[in-house]
Amino acid sequence: MNIIIRVAVCGAAGRMGREVVRAVAREDGLELVGAVDHHDLGTDAGVVAGIAPLGVVVSNDLKGTLVGTQPDVMVDFTSPAAVAENARTAIRAGVRPVIGTTGMDPKDLAELGRLSAETRVGVVVAPNFAVGAVLMMKFAEMAAKFFPAVEIIELHHDQKLDAPSGTALKTAEKISQTRGGDYRQDAVDAMTALEGVRGGSYNGGIRIHSVRLPGLVAHQEVIFGGLGQTLTLRHDSISRESFMPGVVLAVRRVIGLEEMVVGLENLIFE
Ligand code: NAP
Repeated sequence: MNIIIRVAVCGAAGRMGREVVRAVAREDGLELVGAVDHHDLGTDAGVVAGIAPLGVVVSNDLKGTLVGTQPDVMVDFTSPAAVAENARTAIRAGVRPVIGTTGMDPKDLAELGRLSAETRVGVVVAPNFAVGAVLMMKFAEMAAKFFPAVEIIELHHDQKLDAPSGTALKTAEKISQTRGGDYRQDAVDAMTALEGVRGGSYNGGIRIHSVRLPGLVAHQEVIFGGLGQTLTLRHDSISRESFMPGVVLAVRRVIGLEEMVVGLENLIFE
């Protein structure tokens, strides 16, 4: 007998949320049962996502939707300001959150981890659901052992609310851990004529540069420098579909979890 996973999408009228609604609708074994957003209230979530009606209207009442429709999983692609409260609401209703929203306060993330462990309601949090981006981070971790200097350039669409991206921060964290935090920054103290022109500095070491332009989706370069050579790793999400296999995998896997897992890599490289 095929078990159907019941899914609610929070942020269902947003760019990522609409993509998730389409993915859930076409995926065997998943069923959309709830859709929450501030926009398109009362409209069918399928129609909002540009597909056939799914019989689920968009509501702005997350708690009511979760209690009323009893989903197994809530997928959240909302905003840094809303995500932690949404996840707490889901966990308290016994619904497993799969969180793609980036920019969550680290204290909120730690608290969610504790709440998940206490309640044994599984949680997946991933700053990047694209498998290529996860591989880029893995390769960066490998390269970090061999190169004494690195800079990260992340490029995103101009509506993105947080900077740097969650992926850039995670990449810097992994590189820094591999090096034991010894990443040296600039060889010389440059006289900069423009404030911020050298980017932000992660943990006093790795430079991160955030580019925001219309036309972009989500892209990142990790450029390593060493004696007489550079190594550039680049990943491009050229459409939001790139994130959907990762989201669907997380939805299926969170059902068997009783604690919080942070990072898609912890689900795919086991
Ligand atoms: P978006 O187009 O602005 O969509 C977010 C939607 O959520 C908006 O309609 C927003 O309404 C709504 N919303 C905000 N707070 C809410 C709440 N409390 N309850 C219900 N709905 C709420 O943003 P997006 O481009 O889809 O991105 C969403 C998030 O996903 C961002 O944090 C982005 O960085 C992240 N992201 C992650 C990945 C990944 O792989 N993990 C990939 C791409 C994007 P309002 O406009 O009224 O706020």
